[in-house]
Amino acid sequence: MPSIEYKTDQQKKSFYNSNAWRGPNGLRIQALERDNYECQQCKREGKVTTDSIQEEGKHKEIKLNVDHKYPIEFYPKLALVLENLETLCVYHHNVKEGRTMDKIRPKSKKKKWDDERW
Ligand SMILES: [Zn+2]
Repeated sequence: MPSIEYKTDQQKKSFYNSNAWRGPNGLRIQALERDNYECQQCKREGKVTTDSIQEEGKHKEIKLNVDHKYPIEFYPKLALVLENLETLCVYHHNVKEGRTMDKIRPKSKKKKWDDERW
């Protein structure tokens, strides 16, 4: 079996569009259900952030992402491992990806991922 890689945008895109990820029984839904549709980081901070409810005639605002704790780019084998998934709100997902200036958790600077735990 050839090893699967998710290095390019195209490869990542096809993963995130795959049935195994976003299908009706995909890992994404499994992670959301396990996490009660709540941001796990908000939960750790004592807050509750759930996904928004669709309102009539309005676009549903997506608030929750399912994040790979170990990014699939570097850990392709963990792409479909439920334990590697965590529900995060958009804010915390951006913080984790380093897309937001984070004053709350300054230690979240880019660190080498710790291989030994896996
Ligand atoms: Zn959050």
